[in-house]
Amino acid sequence: MIRIVTLDEYDPLVLKALARSLYTAFGVGAEHSGVVTVPHGQQEPYDANKLLDSLPKVQAFADDKVLYLTTRKLAPRKLVSGEAPTYGLARYNSQRCVVSSAHMKGLAPDNVKVLARHAMQEVGHAFGLHHCLDPRCAMYPQWTPSYPAGDASFCTFCRDQSEQKIRQTKS
Ligand SMILES: [Zn+2]
Ligand SMILES: [Zn+2]
Repeated sequence: MIRIVTLDEYDPLVLKALARSLYTAFGVGAEHSGVVTVPHGQQEPYDANKLLDSLPKVQAFADDKVLYLTTRKLAPRKLVSGEAPTYGLARYNSQRCVVSSAHMKGLAPDNVKVLARHAMQEVGHAFGLHHCLDPRCAMYPQWTPSYPAGDASFCTFCRDQSEQKIRQTKS
């Protein structure tokens, strides 16, 4: 199961629509499972790594994924060549990931495509999926200009990969 945990207030219908998209994408149940507060001492823009490490635990089974959602900005990552915007963070094959919707315009129950696409990528990473070269796929790198225009779907390869990974984690 994919557990959506919110750090800020969201329209419940947006969360429902997101859960539906994730269910369609991964073939595992998804639901809004709780609200948590960001630990003291962390300010916007959040350091995504610190956030992932310090967020309160929520009830989850070992094979669940926990997707934390925030309306606040995440601090850009510093690269040798400058800074790259951070829309979310997940570590490969781990339980938690975080997605920020701060940059998403017009988020509404009938418009969760961009949010779902970002969420699919981070949950995908948490299942062990890597970036993909197909621009239509949700695993395509998020910093590309065309990313937000894509659909909330995986290419055939990533879909197969995610099904395999999910089967493995269930064993
Ligand atoms: Zn990524
Ligand atoms: Zn793909």
